[in-house]
Amino acid sequence: MNQTSKSLILAEKPSVAREIAKVLGLRGRGQGYLEDNRYVITWAVGHLVNIAEPGDQNPDWGKQWSLQQLPMIPERFTLTVLDQTRDQFAIVKSLMARDDITDIINATDAGREGELIFRRIYLTAGCTKPIKRLWANDMTEAGLKKALANLVPGEDKRNLGLAAFARAEADWLVGMNFSRLFTVKTGGLVTVGRVQSPVLKLLVDRRKAIENFKPQNYWTIEGMFGQEDEPFKGVWFAPPKRKDNKLWEEDHAKELAKQCTDKQGMVESVSSTRGRQRPPLPFDLTTLQREANTRFGLSAKRVLEIAQELYESKKILTYPRTDSRYLTTEVYNEILDHLRAIYPHFQEISTLAAERIKAATKKFACVNDKKVSDHHAIIPTKKPAVREQLSPDQWNIYEMVCRRTMAAFLPDCTFLTSQVWILVETEPFKATGKIFKDRGWFVAEPWRTAKDNPLPGVAKGDPIKVREVGPVKHTTKPPAHFTDASLLGAMETAGKLVDNEELQEALKERGLGTPATRAQIIETLISRNYVTKQGKKLMATDKGCHVVETVEASLPDLVSPELTGSWEQELKTMEHGNITYPQFMGRIKNMVRQGVENLRNRKFATTPATLPPGKTSLGKCPKCGGDVVENSKAYGCINWREANGGCRFTIWKNMFGGKINKTQVKELLTKEITSNALKLETRDGKKYEARLILQQGRVKVDMQTNNRSATAKVRQQVAAQADEPGDAKPSP
Ligand SMILES: [Zn+2]
Repeated sequence: MNQTSKSLILAEKPSVAREIAKVLGLRGRGQGYLEDNRYVITWAVGHLVNIAEPGDQNPDWGKQWSLQQLPMIPERFTLTVLDQTRDQFAIVKSLMARDDITDIINATDAGREGELIFRRIYLTAGCTKPIKRLWANDMTEAGLKKALANLVPGEDKRNLGLAAFARAEADWLVGMNFSRLFTVKTGGLVTVGRVQSPVLKLLVDRRKAIENFKPQNYWTIEGMFGQEDEPFKGVWFAPPKRKDNKLWEEDHAKELAKQCTDKQGMVESVSSTRGRQRPPLPFDLTTLQREANTRFGLSAKRVLEIAQELYESKKILTYPRTDSRYLTTEVYNEILDHLRAIYPHFQEISTLAAERIKAATKKFACVNDKKVSDHHAIIPTKKPAVREQLSPDQWNIYEMVCRRTMAAFLPDCTFLTSQVWILVETEPFKATGKIFKDRGWFVAEPWRTAKDNPLPGVAKGDPIKVREVGPVKHTTKPPAHFTDASLLGAMETAGKLVDNEELQEALKERGLGTPATRAQIIETLISRNYVTKQGKKLMATDKGCHVVETVEASLPDLVSPELTGSWEQELKTMEHGNITYPQFMGRIKNMVRQGVENLRNRKFATTPATLPPGKTSLGKCPKCGGDVVENSKAYGCINWREANGGCRFTIWKNMFGGKINKTQVKELLTKEITSNALKLETRDGKKYEARLILQQGRVKVDMQTNNRSATAKVRQQVAAQADEPGDAKPSP
């Protein structure tokens, strides 16, 4: 290799650049970069380049928002260097252009967004040098060394880069066009987002379901049975199917309970079944966020921040922005090293897991190469953690990840459930019990309740004492408000209610947003005041409801979780090369074009304008009831804007060859006729006098009071002229 040729490494932020420099033993320092005789390392500060504002794509789009500008679909998207990082961009650009730099190593965050950060800079800098990709699963020294020794050809991540561009451009097209369209049409700022709007709809639907919910009382009948020292509970079920135990009438419940009181029961049947609960899979980002929100009340955003700190600066967790809950065979082969690192904190459990791994004859369910695309599940790295150096929140997250990782290698939890049916006369009561055989992986997550609830040993035909029986009142409950945890779950399944882990896996590809972006979407909805947070509860505001109602009434696709989920799947498919960038963008552009055309002439629900400051009302508009005010050339209705109903009621100051003053306008608006005749003139200059009248929203000359000397011709001309104002454009 040429003595003077060097590789330029571009990291996503300065701290990461320093870590890489440390691993490479590189000390030389320049302005905005580090250098030795083999490498130059520089950094971005997040995004340095972004898609330009509409006005920079096309000067016409920079003017006041209007329907004529839409759809805004740039031929090619113009990128722009962000002002606050202009200096660093200039440094990166000049380094890329240096003669001794022969190739560029992309060391941004190993995901879609990181790829976008790099490729935008590379493109804007006009660089054409070969790209290599640093793809690290963790930030430990060993992890970085390994990644540096196994650089991936840039071409391998080209599809990821294209999907990143497509995601950003699709968001721009949908957001810019429809926010502008709905804002112009409704007269109030309406912000629409490709992912944000369907998520908001989930919240609005939930709020409505809660508000429309009518609680209902119902009763169950519960009894205590058996010996005094070993009583057990039984619940009545409606014969003959014995599926339902609700009674909707109190009298009926009381009656039934009374029938069973002081009677002798009899065991009808006894059965027991073995059950097992397999260990859960390790965490991906979304499941980690959900569980941490449920257990510690941390927001999705906060959990991502903490996980990022533990990955990036503490280096004790692997890459957090992952959507996989599986490990590769490669990682599995070294898993004992990971367990060794956490041994000091979890001696017994990690030993248990290690023994199971050493003794394993086949792979565990959590090891599956096919289910890992870019990054494996979040697990502890091989670097030991020092608890004193972690904040309580950091420790909580770290501990959750460690315990879950160990749980994945522990045995199933096994138990025996038993069921006893008791007949009191002909009324059936069911008692259920559960006894744990082996708590298995529950030892790793001890907050899971695993209490034994045994039933006394009874046999078919045994007489059973009925100790007491009575109706118990219940009330049906509305659906719960969303929390970060439940909303993340709903986003992952695009609003479908799924509690089965496998089904959830299957729906993942069609979720709303990606694991890396979901927390930010929730925060954006809160910052726009579309959603409010009270404790853990997330609730749509009136403003949020209004936005969803407006958009849904005219373009339901835009708030449809299913449709957005399918876009998301296409982006994922694109990363794998099965759908091209032009195909995807073509579909998005069509949707925008059609949406705009469909809505361009649609009437929207309008809100009446309020009296502009400094203006006084001369009376009420006969067409819409709005205030009529004086403008420079005419008196007009304040609801003239499209968003306020587009009312065109106007009385011109110069009309019928005469002048109309405010007093006359007031008279017209209240009495529909002027009290005195005005001096008027026909088009060909013939003078006459007449009162004006207001008829069907138009000002006309009153023929009855028309000066008798006027000729029939004048009458005709006046009648023809009277149609003018209504057809004329209002002058705002
Ligand atoms: Zn009006």
